[in-house]
Amino acid sequence: MPEADQREPVLPVVCPACSCLCDDIEIARDASGQPVFHHACQRGQSFFEQRQDVVPDAYFLGSREVTIEGAVEAAADLLKRAKMPLVTGLSGVAMERQQSAVELARHISGIVDIDGNPDRERQFAFQRTGGVTATLGEVRNRAELVLFWCFDPTASHQRLMERCHVEAKRLVVVGPHDWTSGRADSFIELDPRFCDHALATCHALAAQLNLDPETVLATTGVPIDQWQELVQLLCQQNSAACFMGNNGPDGYPGQACYDRLAEWVIQMNRHVRLFCLFPDPMGNRLAAEDVLTMNTGFPSAVDLSRQQPGFAFLEYATETLLLRQEVDAVVLFSGSAVEPLSETARRYFDQIPKVMLLTESEPEWFDQIALNEGDVRVQISNLVDGDWARMDNVLLPVQMNPKRNDEIEADFMSALLQQF
Ligand code: SF4
Repeated sequence: MPEADQREPVLPVVCPACSCLCDDIEIARDASGQPVFHHACQRGQSFFEQRQDVVPDAYFLGSREVTIEGAVEAAADLLKRAKMPLVTGLSGVAMERQQSAVELARHISGIVDIDGNPDRERQFAFQRTGGVTATLGEVRNRAELVLFWCFDPTASHQRLMERCHVEAKRLVVVGPHDWTSGRADSFIELDPRFCDHALATCHALAAQLNLDPETVLATTGVPIDQWQELVQLLCQQNSAACFMGNNGPDGYPGQACYDRLAEWVIQMNRHVRLFCLFPDPMGNRLAAEDVLTMNTGFPSAVDLSRQQPGFAFLEYATETLLLRQEVDAVVLFSGSAVEPLSETARRYFDQIPKVMLLTESEPEWFDQIALNEGDVRVQISNLVDGDWARMDNVLLPVQMNPKRNDEIEADFMSALLQQF
């Protein structure tokens, strides 16, 4: 790493490249003017490197550049014509923009959703059962054991082990590989497809039920004594943290897995303070869930076309609505609504009118979107700036560039809202 020019002021920033939201990143400039990043991991560094240049704000109707007034008028016309508009992509922007998105959905009597990811299993499981969780500070200062369950921190959250101070704790990995390269004190090799059975086995053992060893081996692929050792080890701690992955391969029994996990954690809390955290690879999903819940009473996919907000699990999810062709216009706050879509949903998405708020934080996805002549594209620089929720739901302020004009997005959104 080149030496920073000591004459340059160092800018402390929060990194939003993963849900660790490291708040000790420092960006300085070396003598040649190149940025020097302190404390950022490789992923964080490339995130900041790609976003060093401030892209000027601009407004487009189709491929034609227009004024902000032209963009507001065209967007309002497009949304007034729509019978059922969808507002989505909230997980890629700051909490303040998520608030604007919900307000807009209300004004245009549309549906509002977090993003295109149909994976809501964690949300549904913990709605039913409740969850036991903690802050990263509590993990760092109190947990005596850290368990990575089907979660590879070295790929998606490269500073998580350092942040949790795992070198001073017992480390256990359950999953297809020991991602810690041998640093783990124990490793249970588990095919993620058997995840739900494995968690049910741990639950039963914690409840001191008698299990048939052959059935356990057949359903989890792991001998029962390894599960017994894990449960005993956990019960010997005062406090333990479990980081649960959500990036399993096809066939990963998502909903059943989260349901079993929620039940097991509640059972375990009779013996040990065991808490769970769910590190999202990227995105401000937890904040979006909170914003939707505060405003509508429901954490995702809410129909605001009637007086009373409507929620029906995945019925109003972005993927479902596009797959069934039930919406006729989309307001997009970030590419997080597009990337996870199935091919069929994506084809319909490409055909319908869109208002897209673009940020330079996601330059890679926009080139893949089919642009129709009447589509409105607003390229603004501060959708990311604002509050983001860390994986433990602690809010931190992200400011990519303090020199930016914070009024611009507010101008576009408030002008658009005034049209309804
Ligand atoms: S661990 Fe995540 S938040 Fe921290 S610097 Fe790396 S990418 Fe950024």
